[in-house]
Amino acid sequence: MAIKQFKTESKRLLDLMANSIYTNKDIFLRELISNASDALDKRHYLSLTNTDIKADDPHIDIEVDRKERLIVIKDNGIGMNKEDLENNLGTIAKSGSLDFKKELDEKSEVDIIGQFGVGFYSAFMVADRIDVISKKIGEDKAYEWISENEEGYEIKSAKKDDYGTIITLHIKPKSKEFDFDQYLSSDNLQILIKKYSDYIRYPIRMDVEITKATSEEGKSETSIENKTINSMIPLWKKNKKEIKEEEYDEFYMQNYYDYNKPLKTLHYSVEGNTSYTALLFIPSKAPYNYYTTDYKLGLKLYSKGVFIKDEANELISDYFKFVRGLIDSDDLNLNISREILQQDYQMNQIKKSLDKRIKNTLEKMLKDEREKYETFFEAFGAQLKYGAYEDYGKNKDVLIDLLMFKSSYEDKYTTLKEYVSRMKEDQKEIFYAVGESVEKIKEMPQIERVLDKGYEVLYFLDNVDEFMASILNNYEDHIFKSINKGDLDLDSKEEKEQNLKENEENKDILDAIKEVLKDDVKEVRLSNRLKSHPVCLVSDDNLSIEMEKVLKDLNQGSNIKANKILEINPDHELFKSLKKVYDNKEAIDDYAKVLYDQALLIAGLEIKDPLNYTKLVTELMIKAMN
Ligand code: ADP
Repeated sequence: MAIKQFKTESKRLLDLMANSIYTNKDIFLRELISNASDALDKRHYLSLTNTDIKADDPHIDIEVDRKERLIVIKDNGIGMNKEDLENNLGTIAKSGSLDFKKELDEKSEVDIIGQFGVGFYSAFMVADRIDVISKKIGEDKAYEWISENEEGYEIKSAKKDDYGTIITLHIKPKSKEFDFDQYLSSDNLQILIKKYSDYIRYPIRMDVEITKATSEEGKSETSIENKTINSMIPLWKKNKKEIKEEEYDEFYMQNYYDYNKPLKTLHYSVEGNTSYTALLFIPSKAPYNYYTTDYKLGLKLYSKGVFIKDEANELISDYFKFVRGLIDSDDLNLNISREILQQDYQMNQIKKSLDKRIKNTLEKMLKDEREKYETFFEAFGAQLKYGAYEDYGKNKDVLIDLLMFKSSYEDKYTTLKEYVSRMKEDQKEIFYAVGESVEKIKEMPQIERVLDKGYEVLYFLDNVDEFMASILNNYEDHIFKSINKGDLDLDSKEEKEQNLKENEENKDILDAIKEVLKDDVKEVRLSNRLKSHPVCLVSDDNLSIEMEKVLKDLNQGSNIKANKILEINPDHELFKSLKKVYDNKEAIDDYAKVLYDQALLIAGLEIKDPLNYTKLVTELMIKAMN
């Protein structure tokens, strides 16, 4: 009998399958089991309307023959007749094939196979020959379909007593590139079944070696038992009321590789255009690599209980990517041979709904379970802030009320809403200070006076904080204002006038200091900002000194510099002494340099010439001691 050719696009696909090296080959088993399950569904459906048709004892049996290198998958489903074999397995020219052809042209082919699988054809990733023997329900004859490669297939009569399908895969020989032998291990196949097909509604049975201890001490005996490998009911399909919290915790820890229990579990179903069930977890701790590019999203996609893919990042916004769990939707048509176009719409629907659900959950947690929320925020707060900052603040409205900061009010987290509710009547701006730790911020020269005025200061401790504040600009019309900004407008009218006068009276010495420091500073001035400290550095445009530091941390080569203003405390003894020196016409160069370097050190910036700095300080000390 002549070998029939596969249709052109089938050929291309087969070629792709047979030679693909990147694709996750494991999925072939899931695809074949899924087909068997569909066939059992169809038989069951027929039995409902036709009393002649029985659908008792539906099952899928899997056998391995290591020696002959065979995997056999048997089902007692609807089966296929000659035409079915010809039409279903000889070509993929079905509903979605045109879309599919387009996809193939667009280089994304490997991705597509990896993510969605392409049904029956995926078996060619692991097998160099496939035999399908099938007998369709209600018919007398059985047929065999054989294909040894992408060139073609043949169909001939066969013998089979009962209805259903037997698929035999001839597993490829082990090669340098890939160890196909792994698919001949019964243990490994069981793992794959558990991983990908645990929730198939029909029993997937295998002969399993069982070792039992015997009554005789130290001895055991091995027997073969036919066992159902899959659990058949997924946790998320069980009735919520019947699930214990430990079951959720256990499920989470087993499936998402976390030693800690989840902080929050969400289990719900949505009915509508795109119905789905979600089982989601918010972890209690950030994985060690969370804030790196190595982090992998722990969100899985199932369709009708069949595992489709890991890392389903199209289902959730980036700023919620800490969420783990799964989505199971009966409405998704994920197989490429069907409609591929619909997916985007459906996936988007789910994403919107999921984002909203998580936002609401977090809001509720913040309101009702403050302590829990703080634990969450410790782990993933920086992610939310980054989310508010990203894309020029596109998502700020979603996230802003979920943000918290430590503040001078009490050593606890506060939300922006809470901050604003405590603002003084005359206060227009939201003050913040940037620093490495609460302790360091408390020691900042600039903070004393702001606090003395009775204003609350937010502590910006994460790198992203100030960048985010500059993108957000304001909260409820209150501008975010750094206490390090040049134009911090705290003074009363009298104080301002006094300051202006002092600056004028001391213009010469200030100019002289600026002369020494040259372009390192934009300006040298006396300020009311300081209370007990002699000097500080501030900046008065959008790029702050703290931002300069972050940029430098991110990229050591960064040469981006903030415009710096050296502010001197006119009431400090140091300035008074400096004035004496200047009035006596002595050189103030060394003093000016030391002063500036000190201001740099307090601001946490590097000084240009540490050797010169220590030399100068040493000289001044010797002078003072003599
Ligand atoms: P899909 O499952 O997306 O339709 P496949 O390439 O996996 O694509 O399968 C093609 C068709 O072959 C199926 O739609 C089904 O009609 C038929 N088929 C595959 N496996 C079986 C089986 N075990 N029993 C009956 N029919 C099957």
